[in-house]
Amino acid sequence: MSSKVYFGTARQARLEARETLPAKLDLILDHLHLRDRVNKETVVIKMHTGNNMVYSTIHPVFVRRVVQAVKDGGGKPFVVDVNWDTEGAEKRGYASEVIGCPVFPAAGPDEKYFYEHERPYKSIQKWKISGLIQDSSFMVNFAHVKGHPSCGFGAAFKNLALGCLAGNSRGAMHDAMHYDPYWFPENCPDKSILPQIVAACPHDGVVIDKDNPESLHMHFEQCNQCGRCLKVAPEGSLKIQPVNFHTFQEACAHAVDIVLSTFAPGKVVHLNLATHMTPVCDCFGFTSMPILPDAGVFGSDDVVALDKATLDVISKTRLIEDNIPTTMEVHTREGHPFQWLHGPLKDPYKVTEFGEKLGLGSRDYELVDVMPLEFPERSSLTYIAAR
Ligand code: SF4
Repeated sequence: MSSKVYFGTARQARLEARETLPAKLDLILDHLHLRDRVNKETVVIKMHTGNNMVYSTIHPVFVRRVVQAVKDGGGKPFVVDVNWDTEGAEKRGYASEVIGCPVFPAAGPDEKYFYEHERPYKSIQKWKISGLIQDSSFMVNFAHVKGHPSCGFGAAFKNLALGCLAGNSRGAMHDAMHYDPYWFPENCPDKSILPQIVAACPHDGVVIDKDNPESLHMHFEQCNQCGRCLKVAPEGSLKIQPVNFHTFQEACAHAVDIVLSTFAPGKVVHLNLATHMTPVCDCFGFTSMPILPDAGVFGSDDVVALDKATLDVISKTRLIEDNIPTTMEVHTREGHPFQWLHGPLKDPYKVTEFGEKLGLGSRDYELVDVMPLEFPERSSLTYIAAR
């Protein structure tokens, strides 16, 4: 059965407030009946509050509208993120005076407040769900859409998977990419070639293993799968293969499954804001130029349908290659624009496939445009008198 995804395009016909994204977010919240669903609920709003001098995360104007809707409905809202991102969040505009509710570190200031869940997956045994997430009775998963070096893109899934887990669980998800072997030393008898393999990579994607000078270690985040190293490495010694990249996304799907299992059915709504999409995650501590045109705002009860619909809308646009950092390269224009930037094996759709397999939702969706774009006759700008 298809799920409904509500969508407000970033584009306007007229230069009027009612056609801007905050107004379309309000319409989406109405369609999701958020106010009717939060009475007496403790509502955690999970978002990325950025880090250091990031200014491309969700603007406080949007957060305030969600907070107000929750209050209107009789709920008790608060915002959470991981501890090092909430530290200094007020400098990026996320202060209670501005957004209308407090901001807390999801697992406490030292990340010592969490609940452990047992679920063996490759190198991971236990998953630590942040205490304030699991203690809440309702969640608004409010994600900023952007590129991501581990999986191509980050949105609703990643906001829950990395953002709702505490301490070493996040590191464990990244480390799981090394679970399936990619270095086969038996096919490289002459280890003196290792420095040449490393030197072939312009992105520091492969290095000598610090614990074993006769072994190679991949930095998957930095690898765009250009294949230069494979031209130097003896055949079969180094493998750049889908399984290592997809493992991160499968781990994210498991994390989301565990996070959502802590809420009763119908007690989570998911929102994606696809504006000022940067090459990498909001935790990097800076904002760079947008690499894609703004797409708009999306909302759904179905996390799988939401990320799938968001990716589909973005796929109709092109990477703004003039805006990408000059140290990054585009070596393929196949697949989704996020793959152009991060490489073909960082397929952003994979997380939705893994999520669907776990029963988290449906990749089949109906996109409901809350304010379809009109194309009226062109006219001169309406004069807006200064007040
Ligand atoms: S495939 Fe390209 S980016 Fe990846 S490690 Fe090899 S040379 Fe570096």
